[in-house]
Amino acid sequence: MPIPRSVHGAVVTDSIPAPSIPAPRAGDPAPAPIPQPVPRPAPRPIPVPVPPVPGHRFRIFKQDPTVADPAVRSVFVPTVVLNGPTDARVSTELPGVTPVARNTTGDFEFEPDTAEFDCAHTFAVVRETVSMYERHNDGAPIPFAWNVGGNIDRLTVFPRAGSGANAFYSRAAKALKFLFFTPQGGTSPVFTCRSLDIVAHETGHSILDGLKPGWLSSGNTPQTGGLHESFGDLTAIFLALSQPDQAEALVALAKADLHARQFLSALAEQFGRALGLPFGLRNADNDLKLSEVGNEVHAISQVFTGGIYDTLADIYAFERIRQARTKDPTIVLIEVADHLCKLLFDAIVAAPATDATYADVVNGMLRLSAERNDPANHRTFLRNRFALREVVVSPTPLDAVLEGRLNLTDPDYTGDGTHEVTNVEPADRNSPSLRADQDRSTCCGTMQMPEFQHIDANTLAAGGPLTDQDILAHELANLRQAFTK
Ligand SMILES: [Zn+2]
Repeated sequence: MPIPRSVHGAVVTDSIPAPSIPAPRAGDPAPAPIPQPVPRPAPRPIPVPVPPVPGHRFRIFKQDPTVADPAVRSVFVPTVVLNGPTDARVSTELPGVTPVARNTTGDFEFEPDTAEFDCAHTFAVVRETVSMYERHNDGAPIPFAWNVGGNIDRLTVFPRAGSGANAFYSRAAKALKFLFFTPQGGTSPVFTCRSLDIVAHETGHSILDGLKPGWLSSGNTPQTGGLHESFGDLTAIFLALSQPDQAEALVALAKADLHARQFLSALAEQFGRALGLPFGLRNADNDLKLSEVGNEVHAISQVFTGGIYDTLADIYAFERIRQARTKDPTIVLIEVADHLCKLLFDAIVAAPATDATYADVVNGMLRLSAERNDPANHRTFLRNRFALREVVVSPTPLDAVLEGRLNLTDPDYTGDGTHEVTNVEPADRNSPSLRADQDRSTCCGTMQMPEFQHIDANTLAAGGPLTDQDILAHELANLRQAFTK
């Protein structure tokens, strides 16, 4: 009870409250120590230093010299590149020019129409292609076909390898070679290295030869050859769509409709025009069916490329509508293309080591798409598109897609409301694309290389470097036998 007391004559009540904690008594445990404030760290200088980022600017043609938008741009290659240009995986070779030295800012930015530009541009596009697939490989390096048993030899890029209207990848040479030619009636040469599409296409061959070393042998079924040629073309498309400026230019030009005619589907514009092909070397946005292409590998490849391209267009149309209020259409396109490219990459890795067919890859994509919980309609688009092209049998009616009534808004759309099928049958097991010998007459230079024409699929599938002895093994064995008689 407070005790009343007088202050200057007034009676007040003492405001000191009675203690709520009883006084310590003998035998009580010692009180817990009072926590002391943690000393603050000494202030850091501002701005806070960040770790230095390795990397260099390169100037490249974003499509090829005939495409004005996008034309020449600077790109950032976020890895250490030495004079050459060369890095741990890729080197550049042009006698009298290489090694090309970095400029005073440590970058590889040169004027177009010079040998230095061609070296830097070609290296950068190869490097970007390798990096794109390494990202799809969960960041792990992808071996080139000779990188077995601890071999770390680089891929050597020859931007001006010689005269000719072609370009090729050679496992025996561990090289990409880009030729140049002067078209009939023309005065100035066309350098194949200046086309992003051609460089990406040939780099695609080198990547796929590392992933599936048996696939380049002409002893495989024609569809396996078609997968190789198609992988090259799709690499060019996916590389373009991994670059925000290209994706944005495409969305603007095509008003977000991938079936509008624009630069993306017309591959290798300059090269194609020089050969008299008005829409580029290959048209990814085609309608070819297997029954229309026989056993010529390049023609067969367009069926697969077209099926993937249509699937990309369908998924993009759906996702663009679904995300219209939350994302810019360019961002949606970059994400959809990245997602589909990863799905294709994983399905190829999972496909057979030799004699892989389109149905193998399509079924791998269906299975992996379900496993990673993509919307069901992504798989419906894929099945429909490859059924229309007579690659697989559709488990659901194709009326809607044939009549242009695609359901682009229902993520659960399966074609008939009941089926969710992730394994489909080949449409025609007797198709020449599955049973005939490979005809590579209109393929790129890679498919014409002797090592891929004369070494059998199982030998190639073992991987490792190749020598002239390997290519001539059959003839040399015959000679040995003849000379021992
Ligand atoms: Zn090719």
